[in-house]
Amino acid sequence: MQERFDAIVVGAGVFGAWTAWHLQQRGQRVLLLDAYGPAHTLASSAAGSRMTRGIYGPDAIYTRMALDSLAQWQRLSERAGLPILRRLGVLMVFQQRENYVEDTLAVHARLEMPTQVLEPAELARRWPQARWDDVALGLFEPQFGALIARRAVQLLVREFEDAGGTTATVSVTPPQGEEQLAYLRGNAGASLAADRYVFACGAWLPKLFPEVLGGRIFPTRQEVFLFAPPAGDDRFKAPNLPGWADFNQGDMYYGFPDLEGRGFKIAHDRHGPPIDPDAGDRIASAEGVADVRAYLARRFPALADRPLVESRVCQYENSANGDFLIDRHPTLRNVWLVGTGSGHGFKHGPEVGRIAAELVLEDADAKEPRFSLATKTSAKKRSVH
Ligand SMILES: Cc1cc2nc3c(=O)[nH]c(=O)nc-3n(C[C@H](O)[C@H](O)[C@H](O)COP(=O)(O)OP(=O)(O)OC[C@H]3O[C@@H](n4cnc5c(N)ncnc54)[C@H](O)[C@@H]3O)c2cc1C
Repeated sequence: MQERFDAIVVGAGVFGAWTAWHLQQRGQRVLLLDAYGPAHTLASSAAGSRMTRGIYGPDAIYTRMALDSLAQWQRLSERAGLPILRRLGVLMVFQQRENYVEDTLAVHARLEMPTQVLEPAELARRWPQARWDDVALGLFEPQFGALIARRAVQLLVREFEDAGGTTATVSVTPPQGEEQLAYLRGNAGASLAADRYVFACGAWLPKLFPEVLGGRIFPTRQEVFLFAPPAGDDRFKAPNLPGWADFNQGDMYYGFPDLEGRGFKIAHDRHGPPIDPDAGDRIASAEGVADVRAYLARRFPALADRPLVESRVCQYENSANGDFLIDRHPTLRNVWLVGTGSGHGFKHGPEVGRIAAELVLEDADAKEPRFSLATKTSAKKRSVH
């Protein structure tokens, strides 16, 4: 491929796909590369479902981004003809009325969001298929819900191609250069050139930029489980239950009702051990199954002994505190780095892509300090949930 592009985006996960799409919308000739293909099975963006919610405690920045992204997901969903955004509502429950609840409510009041505070009796009335006796309250967001993740990214990439964008399956090697990146090297000797480059490579970013990002992005191994609901019982199917999360003082469990006949989803949102995204083992652990079954026994007892029908091992690409990275490379002035979705990035894909495209077109460094490289330290102190 000898063609020269305005921009090359490396990585066709949710962040790279939306960055390429936004650059194209602004008139750029864009090449979108991925080592394996858009939202492929090893990528964080490859999932049946990802939650979108505006509940973020004090982190209003992410509530706003979730809302702005929601509108873009809605438009993609309408263009796609297949469900991308399913507004099932999202319920987050708390064992006590903690600061995270008060902070969320203050942010939502400022943004005039229709969030409801539900007492345990109301939870039991609306969703009697679950046990809520240990819960102090729930926050319910009627306008949020599930994103059908892999389909969303693949449809977006198809839209990008239909509008004249170029895609290719190429694994690029770590970029070399002093102040400017002249070209990329890929497998099979491919050499690819553009004026500007964006690397949205998820958990692979530290492999491509070991000096800049090694020790600042921590890929962790995360397990997700799907269980078959009982026969003749549609209480655990959408829309009879919303997307749900149990804040559990930051040690969250979350999941979805059966969305497309694949089963009831549950995962424990605590950081697992380190993982290599290319070579890491992808078989879920017996401890992980036991952990979620114990949770089901407490919250959704009718599911506790149901067959486990699917499990997936995926990776979070964590920053120190959970903030995103959307900034220029410190020395290569025509290179931007986009990543650290940190287990909550999918929903924000449209806005991450818009912000990244803006920086590229304006030839700018991060404007938002929380997305800057400078704030990506090696201390592991998760604070964004
Ligand atoms: C179990 C789990 C549950 C989650 N739940 C939620 C949720 O409910 N809600 C939510 O909002 N978020 C959630 N997330 C987070 C979200 O999925 C991620 O933040 C997001 O998908 C990250 O997207 P990305 O584009 O940065 O990375 P990825 O999707 O991993 O994409 C990176 C791409 O870069 C490519 N690449 C890497 N190196 C190279 C190279 N050298 N050459 C070419 N291509 C390369 C890879 O092949 C890959 O396709 C969850 C994540 C996990 C793992």
